[in-house]
Amino acid sequence: MSDSDRLIRPYSSLDADAYEGQVIDELMARSQAAIPDPDLWLTSPPEANAVISQFDWVIGWARQYSLWPMMFGLACCAFEMMSAVMPRFDMSRFGMEVMRGSPRQADLIIVSGTLTWKMAPAVRRLYDQMAEPKWVIAMGSCAISGGTFSESHSVVPGVNRIIPVDIYVPGCPPRPEGLLHGITMLHEKIRKSQSLQGNIHLPRLD
Ligand code: SF4
Repeated sequence: MSDSDRLIRPYSSLDADAYEGQVIDELMARSQAAIPDPDLWLTSPPEANAVISQFDWVIGWARQYSLWPMMFGLACCAFEMMSAVMPRFDMSRFGMEVMRGSPRQADLIIVSGTLTWKMAPAVRRLYDQMAEPKWVIAMGSCAISGGTFSESHSVVPGVNRIIPVDIYVPGCPPRPEGLLHGITMLHEKIRKSQSLQGNIHLPRLD
């Protein structure tokens, strides 16, 4: 069905299925290799200006303690993420007081669980809608590499095929302490990033 056809008559359920399959096929074709991790922050340019460096430090320090994670879970790992938010582990101690229900109000997505190809376009869309600068944590072996299901035709073998990943938290599932450790590593990464001399994120993937 052409784009103009879609505008002049409503979808049937068969059309909707066919269109969804087409979107997934296109995403699979474009996701044969992992997206490089955004690690520009690891190399400071030697000509870095002292004033700019100080400015970067202040911006990074402020950003690291004001992250806005998106409320988002895919599978069993999500329960450990929920535990990290509850009073026992209390993620708010790290400046992440509220999980946001909208990607427009979030700058951190914690991909916790198995990502299927059917869900992958939605994850990609959510990532694209998040505010810049934005960060991604892949939580658990499924999110990192597909885990137990990596050979399955329906599972994405690592969320870094779809969006760039800043921090990997291994485990099946990782305990909440593991996620908190990943978050403190992300803080360090944000603090060392260069706000004026290049964003640590790749450009939009679309
Ligand atoms: S890594 Fe283990 S706990 Fe997490 S989603 Fe996969 S199977 Fe479930």
